[in-house]
Amino acid sequence: MSQPLPVGEALELVLGRVTALAAEDVAVVSAAGRVTGEAVCSLVDLPPFPASAMDGFAVRSADTPARLPVVARIAAGRPAPRPLAPGEAMAITTGGVVPEGADAVVAVEEVEDDGESVTVPAVAEEDNVRPRGSDLLRGAVVAPAGARLAAAQLGALAAAGVTEVRCVRRPQVAVLLTGSELRRPGETLGPGEIYDANGLILATQLASAGAEVARLSPVPDDRAALRRALEEGLDADVLVTTGGVSVGEHDLVRELERELGVEEVFWRVSVRPGKPLAFGVRGRTLVFGLPGNPVSTLVSFELFVRPALLALQGFAAPRPPFRPGRLGRPARPSALRDSLLRARSRVEDGAVVLDPLDGQESHMIAQTATADALVFVPQGPVELPAGSPVRYLELS
Ligand code: AMP
Ligand code: MG
Repeated sequence: MSQPLPVGEALELVLGRVTALAAEDVAVVSAAGRVTGEAVCSLVDLPPFPASAMDGFAVRSADTPARLPVVARIAAGRPAPRPLAPGEAMAITTGGVVPEGADAVVAVEEVEDDGESVTVPAVAEEDNVRPRGSDLLRGAVVAPAGARLAAAQLGALAAAGVTEVRCVRRPQVAVLLTGSELRRPGETLGPGEIYDANGLILATQLASAGAEVARLSPVPDDRAALRRALEEGLDADVLVTTGGVSVGEHDLVRELERELGVEEVFWRVSVRPGKPLAFGVRGRTLVFGLPGNPVSTLVSFELFVRPALLALQGFAAPRPPFRPGRLGRPARPSALRDSLLRARSRVEDGAVVLDPLDGQESHMIAQTATADALVFVPQGPVELPAGSPVRYLELS
């Protein structure tokens, strides 16, 4: 039996098998969370005209300081009826078009206004004026390829007049939960049965990773039923199974996948939890066999499946975003494998401090539900004291 792979090597083997999915047109109004497949350019200058940054008075800076007659009132959306002549002022609101002839705006707080004329102090050219195109020029890139579209990016696209964007297709993911002992919440548990937790864990993680999820029902550890379900799941971009990848006599997943033409890339990773993880490919389908314990499923997803999904969608930086922190209490490494300890985080003197939970076994999903971080603890012989620098992953 081959040795379990180091986590980093296993991740690179996964990413090495990913090819980004094709792009499709998506309406900007439905593009939240999507990733651009090509650069998107602005249809207009932003702002499209020289705009006032203040409620105040449009003037010629060369005229100031002076007392100037107010010859017009300009509201946002309604340009001035005529250019500003030397020696004149026009009242203007924020976002109003600065009239031709004017080159500055004096804020309303800076002037003395008697209703017909204003006394303005000395102002400089472009004071309180947002020049046309000062945010972005027409034809310039609003969103590069590979950008995830969140609120600010979508706002920029809307401001730029864009209605459709080419986005990478969302990965279609089939989830297959194996285990004759599994029942769905709401059903009555018979002797030896448990509720399926992995289905909802994965559905939630997959959605947050931009995937479209086809959730299959739990499948018993029965050769024929499992083979049928696997065959169906292999049509997806990604097949994720849970359970049945260990060395028990009912662990049939790898064997059946092999029969169905899956090339196994690796099996077993030197990590706790999640050691029996299997990864393979069939054509362009990525096949992840996650161990059945719910905490193993949760952690393996963050280490391997989420990065693969991000890479499929064309993300430039798909690897897990580990951040620096330090231990708030001692942590015991495994002598043989790297560990991802479930921990609670807090901020102390501006630094993140992580307190590993007491319950670290891979079936303890309820304990894990009180954690908000996974702390990476490299394999080693001695306990890490409180204060040790570590890297951690946020569990959102
Ligand atoms: P396995 O990887 O199939 O050997 O399963 C390991 C452990 O995880 C066993 O105790 C299973 O009962 C449990 N398990 C497997 N699948 C699930 C699931 N979907 N939800 C909760 N526990 C599970
Ligand atoms: Mg099982």
